[in-house]
Amino acid sequence: MRRYNRDTPYDPEHRASLARKAQPPKNLLAWFLEAYRAEAPEKIHASDVWRDRVSEDEARNGVQAVGGSLLGTPRTNDTFRRYIEDSPFSTEVAEYEGSKDRTGHYAFPLRAALVRLAGRGPDHTSYPFLARMLYRVALMDGDYESALAQSMKCTCGRDECNAVIPGVPQPLRQFAVEEALRRLWTKYEVEPPARTLRESAA
Ligand SMILES: [Zn+2]
Repeated sequence: MRRYNRDTPYDPEHRASLARKAQPPKNLLAWFLEAYRAEAPEKIHASDVWRDRVSEDEARNGVQAVGGSLLGTPRTNDTFRRYIEDSPFSTEVAEYEGSKDRTGHYAFPLRAALVRLAGRGPDHTSYPFLARMLYRVALMDGDYESALAQSMKCTCGRDECNAVIPGVPQPLRQFAVEEALRRLWTKYEVEPPARTLRESAA
């Protein structure tokens, strides 16, 4: 229910968007990795660059910043929150031969979709877990077998939380990643909904 609140039911753009979403790309994993890489820091113009940051405390403990497509050790426990919290809904206006497009585009549409997918719950609940899982798949360059095999540490700090969320058993990994990608696709928007634009213009 909640996910449709932001849209006007009879908005033609909304209907076009629904039609588009009914036909996801044949290879969702390829789409996902391409979209992730397109938002990697080196591909984005300087003012909107996203960089991983390391606090002094983390630096003392040997934590290194992880950026975009620089793979290596995925320190997803810490980096996912930073990745999605850093103004993912910022927009930019495209210019076509001098004339500006009237509608803004998300500078980071994939990141915005991951934020929507994650919602606001603690990491040990379904949607934040799915979003983190996908982020890890991106960091590991699409190797979902390895990405989903690993456990995750929940950062919610609640007493009832077991703190460590186990990895997905091998027979379920393909289903899990396909379902997570399908849900991510339904959250993916290149342009912000019209209502948001009106609000921000007011
Ligand atoms: Zn938890």
